[in-house]
Amino acid sequence: MAVILLRDSADPSTFQEAVWGRVFNHRRDVSRVPFAFCAARSVSDVVAAVSLAKSRGCRVSVRSGGHSWAGWSVRSDAVLIDLGDLDLTSEIIPVPETKDGGRGGGRGRTVYDEATKIVSCPPSCTGRILNAYLKERGRMFAGGHCPDVGLGGFLLQGGMGWNCKNWGWACESVSSVDVVTADAKVVHCSAVENADLFWAARGSGPGFPGVVVRFHLMTRPLLQMYQSLYFYPITEFKKVLAWEISVAPTADKDTEIVGVSAYTPVPGKDEKELTIMASFLTFKSTREEAELPLKGIHDDPQRPKGAVLEIFAQETSLDNEYYLQASSNPEQHRYCAENAYIVDDGSVDVPAVLEESFSTLPTKKSFALWFSMSPTSKRPIPSPGPTGHYGGGSMALSMQSDHYFALYTVWDKPEDDKRCMSWTHERMKTVERHAVGSYLGDADFQYRRTRFWSTEAGEELMKIRRKWDPEGRICGYLDDGDKSGVDGLANKFEWLALDNK
Ligand SMILES: Cc1cc2nc3c(=O)[nH]c(=O)nc-3n(C[C@H](O)[C@H](O)[C@H](O)COP(=O)(O)OP(=O)(O)OC[C@H]3O[C@@H](n4cnc5c(N)ncnc54)[C@H](O)[C@@H]3O)c2cc1C
Repeated sequence: MAVILLRDSADPSTFQEAVWGRVFNHRRDVSRVPFAFCAARSVSDVVAAVSLAKSRGCRVSVRSGGHSWAGWSVRSDAVLIDLGDLDLTSEIIPVPETKDGGRGGGRGRTVYDEATKIVSCPPSCTGRILNAYLKERGRMFAGGHCPDVGLGGFLLQGGMGWNCKNWGWACESVSSVDVVTADAKVVHCSAVENADLFWAARGSGPGFPGVVVRFHLMTRPLLQMYQSLYFYPITEFKKVLAWEISVAPTADKDTEIVGVSAYTPVPGKDEKELTIMASFLTFKSTREEAELPLKGIHDDPQRPKGAVLEIFAQETSLDNEYYLQASSNPEQHRYCAENAYIVDDGSVDVPAVLEESFSTLPTKKSFALWFSMSPTSKRPIPSPGPTGHYGGGSMALSMQSDHYFALYTVWDKPEDDKRCMSWTHERMKTVERHAVGSYLGDADFQYRRTRFWSTEAGEELMKIRRKWDPEGRICGYLDDGDKSGVDGLANKFEWLALDNK
């Protein structure tokens, strides 16, 4: 039975805690007050909450893991459906058999089907929980790097998971979803059933016109993990990034390549220093297999000299990586994240464009990221066309380039909000001129409007949203003033419009 709290009758502090308690970012706009909070325990609770919103003429907002940087789940006058306690144990969602065979075990909270290798789980399941479950079965899912990000928000926007550069977007491993629609019906969506909604579930992000209550995901074999790390003084940034960019496209297919600037402990120094770290994380069956590509990188004559710390082929694990990611993204802190896909046609000097952002972090807890996306970014994503609509790997996700750049500004005092936010937005103003667009996952449309899809996919997505949710029942994209509604996002460079004025 769902816990439902109404704004007008609940104890104010209980209501406040229910609304904001599971939001990761402590920089919160508490002027957004929902009409009601519903902790759904079953799919029927979700149906009831959507029906309640419908009868009251208000909107529905959704929360899975609460890790949206901008607190997208908290919306003025909406019914907030929190899926944190969604337990599918006693439910059988009435799903007809499909020809694609894509449906995993039909019941249970998280169920792995040995025959299809598909795991079915609720959207509030996190990468850490899912992988702990799969580990016992010798499988893994390449979910988000941070342990506690909910699969719901992560997969809907695409999902930059482990080794995304080679294994592709996490949403490409979604075989089907179960959805409560904006008019409170339960539907199953796959490549052959409600295919337009399934297409939208792979890249619409927070504008998905329904509530996903279960994901059916293709898993992969669990592999061992080995990592080489090279830390350089930040003054070497351009050389280090240029080197990473040069090795990335042809590097081993099981190796994730990342560049991060952050304040780190350095041998021989008392204080943490700003460094640029080049990371190579390899997933293989044995140490010998992993050492081969890592040795090639280690011995590469082009590798810059002058590292202050070098670690070669150190064994690691998902648990260990989750621990490190959680330490870099501490709880009870204030965050501002922004991002851009930098042009990759050779016309842009990527290290030069990014240097200032990586070298001038405004706090010691902040970090800047370059995430290699090549060769995944080189695969054309089929557009939805009049014939063969939505098939052949087509998905709403359609924005990509070789270079993913993101800023994660982290601080703990409200008095630093203005300085930290301004720094982040000012940096983006320069970088975005060299970008093809951005990723929904690290974006905040209240502050920056840009391109999130190809033109064709963006138009198709807005059409599908209008078809499945003509009244704008599901909150959708939180822009400045929360006005976007059924129109969705313009999918245009804001700076271009300003320049042309
Ligand atoms: C510390 C940290 C680390 C991160 N690391 C990564 C990473 O490695 N890779 C990556 O790609 N992203 C990463 N992200 C971004 C993250 O994936 C997004 O913020 C994502 O939206 C979080 O999902 P959530 O379910 O936890 O968030 P929520 O705040 O619960 O959901 C965000 C929004 O998504 C929509 N939504 C969520 N669930 C549903 C549902 N079941 N049905 C319909 N709509 C739904 C709603 O609009 C909701 O308001 C990270 C974020 C944080 C805070």
